Order: sequence, then C-alpha cells, then structure tokens
Amino acid sequence: MSKNGSGLHIVFTGAPGCGKGTQARALKEKVDICHLSTGEMLRAEAAKGTPLGSEISALIDGGNLVPDEMIIKMLSSRIEEDDCKNGFILDGFPRTLPQATVLDELLEQKGIKLDAVIEIQVPDEIIMERILGRYACMTCGEGYHDKFHKPKVYGVCDKCGGTNFYRRIDDNRTTVQNRLVNYRALTYPTIPFFEKKGVLCCVDGTGTIEATSKKVNVILGITQ
Ligand code: AMP
Repeated sequence: MSKNGSGLHIVFTGAPGCGKGTQARALKEKVDICHLSTGEMLRAEAAKGTPLGSEISALIDGGNLVPDEMIIKMLSSRIEEDDCKNGFILDGFPRTLPQATVLDELLEQKGIKLDAVIEIQVPDEIIMERILGRYACMTCGEGYHDKFHKPKVYGVCDKCGGTNFYRRIDDNRTTVQNRLVNYRALTYPTIPFFEKKGVLCCVDGTGTIEATSKKVNVILGITQ
C-alpha cells in the first residue's frame, strides 16, 4: 500500500449515488483510518435543530451545496483531530474547486501528499435508480436497496438486527436532478484539478459493491 507522511490519505469523489460512502466504509474496514463524510457531519448538525441546522437542512433538502466557507471551516478543524493522525478517507469533500484548493494547501502545509483521488464513474440513469431505492438502518447505518440489496430477513438489519429504517429526504427525483446539475457545474471541475496533480484514479462503479471494492483495492495496492 502506498503511504506517505503520517498514513494513507484518500478522497472518494463522483456524482451523488455513485457509491462514495459505501466504498469509503468498505475501505475503512480494511485500513483502520478515519472516514470523514461531510454529508454525515452536516446531517448531524442539521439534526440539532439550531438556526444553523435549519439553514443546512434547507440546502441539503433542495439538493444545493452548503457554502464553501462553512464546509472548509468544519473540515479543516476536523482533520486536526487525533483520530486523523494516521490518515483519512474523505467522502463528499472536496465538492468545489475552492474546497479542492484549500485541501491541497492544508495538506501541503502538513507535508502530506494525497495517495489517491478515486473517481467512481456511474451514468446518470443508474444513479437515479440507485438513489431512489436506497435506505439505511436507523441503528447502525447499514445501507440497503429495494431492488439490489435487501436485508436477508424482511425488515431486519443483517448487521445489527435493528428493525427501523430511514430514507434520506434529499433522495427524491427532483432533488437528485438538482444534485446532478450541481455536481456537473461545481464538483466536476475538481476532476481535472486532481488529474493535473497526478493523483486521479477512475473506477467503473456500475458493477456490484464487491466488484468496485476490488478495483479500489487494486489501485491502493491492498491485497488482504
Ligand atoms: P452526501 O451525504 O455526500 O450525499 O451529501 C449530502 C448533502 O450535503 C449534499 O447534497 C450537500 O448539500 C451537502 N454537502 C456534503 N458535502 C458537501 C461539501 N463538501 N460541500 C458542500 N455541500 C456538501
């Protein structure tokens, strides 16, 4: 496995529903480093019901990005925490060129080079079907899908036995369409940015979770 500075530093990027979160969680099981999902951090803040939380909810539910200043402040203080000492897997950050530039500067200051920015490529028609069918266990967060990944026993989480599930409010057709528009306009320009830096790796994410994981592991030289 390629390593530098103080551990492994990976970014998962790609359109909404491409499998960034799923692949980040799968990788975390193999390499015990911090998994940072900015979407999860924002949802946790939104759930507090504070004025800031309500502002964040409105943006997420409409399929819009939260402002760069807010997310950069949140992420840059988070990566200073102890559990990021051995590296991190970024899932959903950076999502704009200003975020990518700040990440690049922050890492440069620390003498860290990104090991890989992994773009998971999935066409829009598949994305819509994936997002509209997905749901998760309320207790442990394990992800499921109406068609592609049902629990072994109906209504019971395979992982923790939980029986309550939820769907994200932003996983509806209108919001997903807006998320895709924002992806192309704001996030896609980060791809050539990372390509120029020589850290971009693209994987086809249209297969099963396991098939995509295998491709990610090959890129990172993970054999176990
Ligand atoms: P995700 O869980 O990654 O799909 O993110 C859910 C939502 O959180 C996105 O649609 C955005 O509204 C917001 N979000 C997550 N990460 C970022 C980011 N890096 N910059 C701006 N907004 C973000």
